[in-house]
Amino acid sequence: MLDVPNALLIDGCWRKEATGGTLALVDPVTEQRWHQVPAAGPQEIEEAVSVAARAFRKADWAMVSPRDRATVMYRLAALIRENAEDLAGLESHNVGKPIGDARDEILGGASCLEYYAGGISRFGGETLPVAAQGFDYTLRVPIGVVVAIVPWNFPFPMACWKVAPALATGNAVILKPASLTPLTALALGGLAMEAGVPAGVLQVVAGRGSEIGDTLVAHPLVGKIAFTGETATGAHILQVAAPDIKRVSLELGGKSPNIIFADADVEAAAAAAPMAVFGNTGQDCCARSRVLVEEPIYDSFMEAFVEATRGLVVGDPLDESTQVGPMISAGQRERVEQYIALARDEGGRLLCGGERPFETGYYLAPTIIDGLPSSSRVCQEEIFGPVACVIPFHDEAEAVALANDTEYGLSGSVWTRDLTRALRVARAVESGVLSVNTNSSVHLEAPFGGLKHSGFGRDLGREAMCLYTELKNIFVSVTDEDLT
Ligand code: NAP
Repeated sequence: MLDVPNALLIDGCWRKEATGGTLALVDPVTEQRWHQVPAAGPQEIEEAVSVAARAFRKADWAMVSPRDRATVMYRLAALIRENAEDLAGLESHNVGKPIGDARDEILGGASCLEYYAGGISRFGGETLPVAAQGFDYTLRVPIGVVVAIVPWNFPFPMACWKVAPALATGNAVILKPASLTPLTALALGGLAMEAGVPAGVLQVVAGRGSEIGDTLVAHPLVGKIAFTGETATGAHILQVAAPDIKRVSLELGGKSPNIIFADADVEAAAAAAPMAVFGNTGQDCCARSRVLVEEPIYDSFMEAFVEATRGLVVGDPLDESTQVGPMISAGQRERVEQYIALARDEGGRLLCGGERPFETGYYLAPTIIDGLPSSSRVCQEEIFGPVACVIPFHDEAEAVALANDTEYGLSGSVWTRDLTRALRVARAVESGVLSVNTNSSVHLEAPFGGLKHSGFGRDLGREAMCLYTELKNIFVSVTDEDLT
């Protein structure tokens, strides 16, 4: 049985006390405080960074042979699988996430480590034919100290998406989980030590971003920041990292379209639409929260969409049948309720939801709103809760224009039986990832990330390994008489 983590992981040791005070964890179901962990202050950050820099310089990880590094990472993945039920329980309790989803995410984290363990020995440079006498080759070298900052909505997968490629490519990593959800990140640190990741190569420092973020990001010994979170936080990080020319990758917010054409399998699209936006209680950067529906099928689609949404099981995250749990916090729910009130004030039609279904717990019923223009705040801003806005469209050109009428560009879906149109629209929609006739577009093997204000750089796939390395080019002259 895995212990509930109650300490920071610095230099291979557990710290039960830290200078940033404590982070109190509140159960989103009971609204009761149930646990706390220490919060790092600038002092622990200074220490963690110098430990990471030393661990990297000593090269006790980067110079480990790729095969041995892979062995450690496979061992870590195996430990995650062995402890998957405990980890899923922790995540579910901490985030309010349905247990089935939490289990899938934990196992997905293990798969991510396996994927990058398998990739280590196939990731290298090239030999290039150049005009001069000699040969030219490229090397991929680790950056050094990588800081991974992750959000609260998918704590474990976001941590693994960054830690796995960064470790695979030989960096020393400092993982900073969100203050609301530090537990599975700390547990990951403990399992990494058990698997044989050397002390200082992976450290986990929970702490308030507002207090330690700038110290972490601006630290001269840190080479790279891999961030997932809000667009405003990402913009701030970019500014703080700029003077030192740090490498930065940003996975930010979204307001993704779900485009349903009249020739689509409307039944399938309507059945899939609720979980595409209400999954993880709408706290999903990829949530298809702007549903765009072609006029001839508007009424029939809406009827099916609303009915399927009313059928979602909202309830206790530990119940295997639950599809939608509570929101993460009272504050997040209030923020979403303000958007619902704004939608009402601006003449939006609430087709379902809008209310708190239970007296206790940060629950909010899945909510569908139509009748608002695309320019309204509710249709433009990332609400990050269980709210879908629906907008009808007249033709393909209008669908694309509406899809692109947002500052974001993360994800989206197109539903149509016309293959040429699917390809045309998929290309025209300004998003980093897009799915056709499904709402699922995240695969470990494929790059994931956004355009526009959804950020830059890509998690997952081979691209992520490029993000954690520098590309060096070396030319070797062979003009010596003896060699020619
Ligand atoms: P957030 O407030 O931006 O926080 C994200 C992380 O940044 C947390 O660990 C936070 O720490 C830390 N942080 C806050 N201020 C910081 C600072 N000044 N310097 C350095 N770090 C700082 O985002 P969130 O509310 O946790 O997560 C929701 C957002 O994440 C949404 O916008 C969502 O779309 C986005 N997201 C994007 C993706 C993607 O792949 N594109 C995936 C998931 C989520 P504290 O918790 O201590 O404040």
